Amino acid sequence: MVQVSRHDIVIVGGGGAGLRAAIAAAEANPDLSIALVSKVYPMRSHTVSAEGGAAAIARDDDNEELHGFDTVKGSDFLGDQDVIEYFVENAPRELALLENWGCPWSRNEDGSVSTRAFGGMSTKRTWYATDKVGFHMLHALFQHSLRFDNIVRYDEFFVTKLLVEDGRCQGVAALEIRTGEFHAILGRSVILATGGAGKIFPFTTNGTIKTGDGMALAYQAGVALKDMEFVQYHPTGLPGTGILITEAARGEGGYLRNNKDERFLVDYDYGVGDKAELGPRDMVSRAIIQEFEAGRGFEGRYGKYCVVDLRHLGEKHIDAKLPFVRELAKIYIGVDPVHEYIPIRPVVHYMMGGVDTDINAATELPGLFAAGEVACASLNGANRLGSNSLTECLVFGAVAGRNAIEFAQGAGEGNSSALVSQAEEEAARVEALRGNGRGNEKIAGLRHEMNSTMEAGCGVYRMQESMQIAATETRSIRKRAADLHLKDSSRVFNTEIVSALELQNMVELAEVLAVSAAHRKESRGAHTCRDYPTRDDQSFLYHTLAHRTDDGPRLGRKEVKLGHWEPQERKY
Ligand SMILES: Cc1cc2nc3c(=O)[nH]c(=O)nc-3n(C[C@H](O)[C@H](O)[C@H](O)COP(=O)(O)OP(=O)(O)OC[C@H]3O[C@@H](n4cnc5c(N)ncnc54)[C@H](O)[C@@H]3O)c2cc1C
Repeated sequence: MVQVSRHDIVIVGGGGAGLRAAIAAAEANPDLSIALVSKVYPMRSHTVSAEGGAAAIARDDDNEELHGFDTVKGSDFLGDQDVIEYFVENAPRELALLENWGCPWSRNEDGSVSTRAFGGMSTKRTWYATDKVGFHMLHALFQHSLRFDNIVRYDEFFVTKLLVEDGRCQGVAALEIRTGEFHAILGRSVILATGGAGKIFPFTTNGTIKTGDGMALAYQAGVALKDMEFVQYHPTGLPGTGILITEAARGEGGYLRNNKDERFLVDYDYGVGDKAELGPRDMVSRAIIQEFEAGRGFEGRYGKYCVVDLRHLGEKHIDAKLPFVRELAKIYIGVDPVHEYIPIRPVVHYMMGGVDTDINAATELPGLFAAGEVACASLNGANRLGSNSLTECLVFGAVAGRNAIEFAQGAGEGNSSALVSQAEEEAARVEALRGNGRGNEKIAGLRHEMNSTMEAGCGVYRMQESMQIAATETRSIRKRAADLHLKDSSRVFNTEIVSALELQNMVELAEVLAVSAAHRKESRGAHTCRDYPTRDDQSFLYHTLAHRTDDGPRLGRKEVKLGHWEPQERKY
């Protein structure tokens, strides 16, 4: 039996983008009902763990032209310039709004908002609340969302399918994790705000829940995934756990050192002068790998690493600006950065690619919108600048909320019985997995294989051959993931079934990522091929689109929206 509920719009995801969308929708029409569905309690969404800050113009030496160009250049000219212009224009307003809702931005002595330097940003543009930005932002959003009676929450509901009828998206099918019951949550429009997919890779800053579910839901519903080959490695994650040492550590003046105790980034010419550590993430990650290859990395339990040196900043500055970095380093690796180096290595951090959306957060499927890390509008092109993402969640979360409401107002209710019978079919599919005792594949084993295939084939540096191998292997892993062996037949909090569903989502995306990467025979932003080391605008200045077929992704292309910033060599 499927439980049926009806709302006007359904938002999947309770992180920064989902909550911002919910608030925008609730404000746009207080008479409409908004379902907010999340597989974890909203405050546990990955947004909570963001540390460094959110970008928006705040200083007199900054302007829209500068923020826009930094973002376009950071994207290696693959970002869509209409999206970027809208973003930089609306960013300051969104961050100010967040303060009205309770986000305590750090301030200068004269009362103005304090901003810090971030890689690839030509001036101090990153707003922060010490180094616990995501925590404060998500709190402010969550608290504010509680003021609206028309936002109805479905906490710990796992969405497994989009319900599409009559050519438009009209709701979701979801498993209630607490009870094992199945639900059809119907609406006249749906927003995906499900975040990224870092867990496809073995070393990542991403929380366990970042399994790309929303990307897989859209892909399975026939919507294209865009630019999935572009994966951001953050240069400074802790080896082993992948826990993030925020870019603010470099922004506040920290150094990176190799095993010769050299501040090696000085030798890599990004043209940033004495701010050698403030290169963009793709370039700094490549420099670290080059240090490893030249034998200048330290050797540790989890392979090679370099170190962050904050000692010269002094205890007072570290405690004032980077208290969380000190706390994390002490707890997770047993070092105090006031006196010691923090070991780091590049780790997967962010997906530039995602569900193909336009500047209105709309997808090709009528009634389906997407915002936040799940979406690819594309603001970030081939490489995201640190601190643009949190602001993107706000700016485009709000756009999605308003547009989904508008769509819902103009759409009819649709055929409920057809939607419910789709949900019933989906319930039967999921039920067949529960404690099936059949199947030949173990969840953990396949996840491990997927992780190592992705690291070997689609890491910081890529080769045609290794990407091709990854494409072939991920295809076979995807097929094998249909034959999972589950043991737990309980209904209440059956986390095994959730892991199985997440794995089935991840293997789809791993294949799209590898196939898209193998196709792009150039180096652009985070996609660096050793055998095609230069950017090739002649042949590859377009977005990659991937549509699902049973035999794997069918690739297509979408034009990049250029504007007044002409493509040029990307130099810092
Ligand atoms: C450690 C870390 C630090 C970061 N620091 C910064 C920073 O300083 N500045 C910056 O700009 N960016 C930063 N980023 C990136 C940024 O935080 C994220 O891109 C952003 O927060 C994503 O927000 P989101 O709302 O799109 O998704 P998330 O916050 O990941 O939320 C996703 C939501 O979707 C729900 N969901 C997912 N799948 C399902 C499903 N199947 N069914 C139901 N619900 C589902 C989840 O429950 C969750 O509520 C950081 C990222 C990490 C990992």
